[in-house]
This record gives sequence, structure tokens and C-alpha cells, in this order.
Amino acid sequence: MFGLRALKETQEHTHSFYAASANTATAYPALTGDKQADVVVVGGGFSGVNTALELAERGFDVALIEANRIGWGATGRNGGQVIGGIGHTPERFKKSIGEAGIRDIYQMGIEARDVIRERVERYDIQCDLKWGYCDVALKPRHMKQFAEWQAFEKTIGNPHPYTLLDREEIKTYVNSDRYLGGLHNTANGHLHPLNLCIGEAQALNALGGAIYEQSRVVVIEPGALPVVRTEAGSITAKTVVLAGNAYMGGLVPKLSKQVLPSASSVIATAPLSPELAQQILPGDVAVCDPRTALDYFRLSADRRLLFGGLSNYTGMEPKNLKGVMYKKMTQVFPELENTAIDYAWSGWIGIGINRMPQLGQLSDNIHYIQAYSGHGVAPTHMMARVTAEKIAGESSRFEAMANIPHMAFPGGPLLGRAILAVGMTYYKALDLL
Ligand SMILES: Cc1cc2nc3c(=O)[nH]c(=O)nc-3n(C[C@H](O)[C@H](O)[C@H](O)COP(=O)(O)OP(=O)(O)OC[C@H]3O[C@@H](n4cnc5c(N)ncnc54)[C@H](O)[C@@H]3O)c2cc1C
Repeated sequence: MFGLRALKETQEHTHSFYAASANTATAYPALTGDKQADVVVVGGGFSGVNTALELAERGFDVALIEANRIGWGATGRNGGQVIGGIGHTPERFKKSIGEAGIRDIYQMGIEARDVIRERVERYDIQCDLKWGYCDVALKPRHMKQFAEWQAFEKTIGNPHPYTLLDREEIKTYVNSDRYLGGLHNTANGHLHPLNLCIGEAQALNALGGAIYEQSRVVVIEPGALPVVRTEAGSITAKTVVLAGNAYMGGLVPKLSKQVLPSASSVIATAPLSPELAQQILPGDVAVCDPRTALDYFRLSADRRLLFGGLSNYTGMEPKNLKGVMYKKMTQVFPELENTAIDYAWSGWIGIGINRMPQLGQLSDNIHYIQAYSGHGVAPTHMMARVTAEKIAGESSRFEAMANIPHMAFPGGPLLGRAILAVGMTYYKALDLL
């Protein structure tokens, strides 16, 4: 066990590889004075930026307010793994959403990645997007699970092939003795998430969307024309969308009770030689193992290994973050011993009890999106699209998500953390079997 510390945050980006390699440093103005818009979106991560962009594409007059910088939260800190699917096993909610709702959610899980593909192509966003992904097995039962997933993807109409790989075959993608085999697909992939989000914000701005940075919303006044207020200004709008996810604090207690900010961490090595990069990840794929506290990794465009993991419910990070992550990384790739770690950082994931994204309305004209439970790069894009569709009166598939029941964490964040920690210990113990 290791000692923990709180994440050190400022209004600027955390000291990550992504912030250091951003295409541009954003510098949108802070909100001052009283303004109007059709729709005001709170939170400048993937959920907020893409909701605003979808609406601007439809001709709405949109304003986006971010407390820090565009992509400052989980969006600009994640593993960059683009994974399909929305939450887990929507069949659990058949009573609330029916067969049609379940079908809609699986369909959205396929479309989610296409939204990213379209954005990158349409707005020519330089974010190192690559397709190719492997789930890797540590236990024989993981292989059984992968065979079931492979069959399942066909039943939901996923057009991409999924290929089971044995111990030798997996090495053509992920060259580590640690894995018994894997499941490869080209439906999923990886990218530089901060550059994607910055590019999406630029597209929004070019379409006339107003963007305000370093402007924390401190009050929301509901009403026929709701008002959002920062310390220095306000925006009155016909519709408000709240997309602050794990970072929204107590702004709306009903929402914060349903989402638990949990930490995950990533390290980036120094750039590897072309030979070493080719040796460890010959397929240049993104990789995940199926454990509760999983390892996830991939190469950056400049051949660093970005290695993530350590999901925990304390919301804190190890005091010796580099050392702890280095140990995990060299368990997978012993040949990286003595490789320098240039960056180490952590961020908050919004966890919900039932592991389904939370999408809905506090009133007719106040919407919210949150809680992707660690799997949000592609799903945020899809949830943003269906929220925009709802606001534009275009589609009913929003209802499938909005009708899923969500629970508050009993006893608030403190007890919630304790309950999840117990649950996680149980699942970690199962992972050892
Ligand atoms: C370390 C880490 C690794 C991850 N790896 C992956 C991965 O590889 N693949 C994957 O699919 N998912 C991954 N995730 C999850 C994924 O990053 C998130 O699900 C996704 O980015 C959530 O986006 P969001 O816009 O909803 O929230 P965020 O990106 O957290 O954005 C919320 C924004 O709202 C702003 N905000 C909050 N309150 C206010 C307020 N009152 N006023 C104004 N602004 C406010 C915050 O400053 C923040 O910028 C990872 C997450 C972390 C932390």
C-alpha cells in the first residue's frame, strides 16, 4: 500500500504530456457583464464542447463557460483510448427503457466513435487519431469473456471484425509475456484527447459560439429564462446544459450526490527509439486489460509509452506517483527498465452507481450530462449529440438514456467512497482468482 495525497490543481492545465504537446494554448476571455444566448453550456470538456458544437452546427446561438481551460478536466488528461459502447449491460434497465431503448443504446455505442471520426475529418483536427485496439487477457476466464464479446459485437450489428488471438498471436500487437491472449479490433483506437477538444472548441468558435475560460459558474437561477452567474458576469438563456461532471462540486446537489469523483493516473515515458516502440507495441494499438483496477496503455505520436491505471475511489493519487506507475509499467514491459518518465499526472473520473452515463433534465430548460465511469472519450460525443437533438426537437433517442434510473450515493461522497472502496476490494479480490 502507498501513501496518498490530494491532487494539486490550479486554473491552468495540470502538468501533463498533453498540455506540453497541445497544438495551441487556448486563451478565451473570462465572462464579464450580462449576456444572452439561446443555449448556455457549463463545462468545457468533451461533453460541453460537443453539445455546444452540435447546437452551433444547427444554427443555435450558443455560449460555453469553462471554469479553467478548455479540456482542463478528465478530457485533457485521459488515456486517449477511443472505445465504443455506452455504459454496461443496458438490459438491466429493460423495465424502464424497453427493448427499443436497449437497441438505441447499443446503436449509439457504435455511432459514438463515428462522431469522433466525423469531427476530425470535417474540421481537420490534428489529434493523432489511429484505429486499432486490443483487450488483453491475464486469466483463462478473460479469454472466455472475450469470445463472448466477439460473438456479441456481431449480434448488435457492429460492422468491424473482432479477432481472438492466442498467446503467440497477441505478440504481433502487444509484445509482453504477461498476456495469455487477446481480442483485437479496428473499431476502437486512440488519439491526443486535449488536441481533439481544443480543435472542437475552435470549430465551435468559428461557427459563432462564444467561449469563456477561467469563469466558474457559481449560481444557476431557474425560470422561464434561466440565468447562470459567475463572480464577474451572467448569461441569460432559453436553455442551460450542465456538463461539469466530476468537477462540478456542489453547484447542483442533486447531481453531485449521483457522481463520485474518483482518481486515475497516467505516466508518459521519454520518447522511445523507433526500434523499442516497434518491439513493445508492433501494432501501435491501444490496450486495456479487463480488471476492475485496470492497466491501459498506448504509444503517443512521438513514441512515448502512455501508461495509465490506479483507478481508486479516494479521489487522491499516490505520493510516489511516478514510482508506483513505473513499477506497473515494467511488469508489462521489463525492457522499459531505466526508461525515463517525463510526465505523471492524475484526474477525476465521474463514477455513477449503475455505471451508465447520466443524461437528463432538472426542468424543461435545464439539462445535464455526467458520469461516464472512466469510459467517456467516445460516449461523451454521443451523449452530446443526443442532448443537442433533444434541445433541437429532433429525435427521441435521448429518452432511452434519460429514462434509466440513477441513485444517489447513500450518505454523500464520504460514505459513497467507503462503499465503493469495499466494492472495489471485492472485485479486485475476484480479479486475483
Ligand atoms: C486519468 C484518466 C484516464 C482516462 N482514460 C480514458 C480513456 O482512455 N478512454 C475513455 O474513454 N475515457 C477515459 N477517461 C474518462 C474520460 O476522460 C471522461 O469520461 C470524459 O473526458 C468526461 O468528459 P466531460 O466533458 O464529461 O468531463 P470533464 O472533461 O471532466 O469536463 C468537465 C469540465 O467542466 C468544468 N466545470 C466544472 N464545474 C464548472 C463550473 N461550475 N463552471 C464552469 N465550468 C465548470 C471543469 O473545469 C472541466 O473542465 C479517463 C479519465 C481520467 C481522469
